[in-house]
Amino acid sequence: MYISCSAEQRTLEIPDKGEMKIAGYWSPQLGLYSQPVLLQWEAGKVSSLQPLEDYKTIYKGREEWHAYFLLPGWIDSHVHLSLDSLDFFQCLENWNQPALIEKNVKLYLQSYLDNGIIAIRDGGDLPGFAWQAKNKVKEGLWQGPEVVSVHEAVGRAGMYGRFLGRGFPDLSKWRKNEKDFFAQGLDQLKVIVTGLIRFDDFHKVGPSQWTVKELKELVKTAHDRGILVMAHASGEEGISLAIEANVDSIEHGYYMTTDQLELMREKGIAWVPTVAPIGNILKYPSNRYSAHEIDTLKRILDRQLETICKAYSLGVRLGVGTDAGAYQVPHGESLSDELDWMIKAGIPKLEVYRRATSENAQILGRPELGRLDVGTPMNQLQLVKEL
Ligand SMILES: [Zn+2]
Repeated sequence: MYISCSAEQRTLEIPDKGEMKIAGYWSPQLGLYSQPVLLQWEAGKVSSLQPLEDYKTIYKGREEWHAYFLLPGWIDSHVHLSLDSLDFFQCLENWNQPALIEKNVKLYLQSYLDNGIIAIRDGGDLPGFAWQAKNKVKEGLWQGPEVVSVHEAVGRAGMYGRFLGRGFPDLSKWRKNEKDFFAQGLDQLKVIVTGLIRFDDFHKVGPSQWTVKELKELVKTAHDRGILVMAHASGEEGISLAIEANVDSIEHGYYMTTDQLELMREKGIAWVPTVAPIGNILKYPSNRYSAHEIDTLKRILDRQLETICKAYSLGVRLGVGTDAGAYQVPHGESLSDELDWMIKAGIPKLEVYRRATSENAQILGRPELGRLDVGTPMNQLQLVKEL
């Protein structure tokens, strides 16, 4: 078996049973402990975490991990495995060469593990590349994090999102196909509520795709089957639609208002604010955008960080998702950018870590992940260099 070692940016082969000295640990369950600890595991699961200070002189065991802290593996709650973070339009053309995409996806999956990420939630692609990846990992054919996949997103045909799913022109067409849609398999239902934000026009968002009544019906078809609903929504109008329709998480959510945050807290709706696709363009400058666009992006970023801080202080459920696959948001590596953005927004570091582990596990509908305690499988954990 293996354990993710973000400290060395790789996975380490480990036996099913062993012991190691580590520098300490942190988890939402056990809190922070930053003194030397003897970690022991059996049958691939943590069996004890014992402070070493009591018998420092007699410990003669293995020391290779003595500088590393043990943490629950990270979870990235918003990615697109089918996109390459380089060139969106070229990538869509590459979709005609499934073997190439498959090769890339396998590399991305490894990159997640190398960066300490043990589960991801994929926001969909029309050909089903991420759904395929999910099944390959599950069957043990590919090495990778656990993939929670929406398979194909539901949007209004002819509006934003044709690469995410086939789209439905109206609800009657949806009703006719509903059974087959669920039968093709999905872990969560993704609904596209609005179009994209614009990098050249502050406050402007692509139009809403559904009425409240329509969106409520879409959400109910999933909830009746016990399936969570993630909603791609930005702008005041679209976010209100999503809240009223009782979705489980709002993705992106640019231009969210304080009133909306309060409603989300009341309803227990999570927010995955995906800062990296905006922030990383500014963090890693290129000549791709005009001065006006850069200026607009700065305003959007500031506004988003401010709102994240408000959400935190109001007690809104917050997830950590990168939108990896977007330009400048590489699979695996970009989670550390997203963590940094959340810290920059004013959330204490360990509170950000809690959101990137246990809260994200809730958002994925996999509450058994994002934990470290006696009994946790070693391949759901990671080793980091510092806390
Ligand atoms: Zn996305």
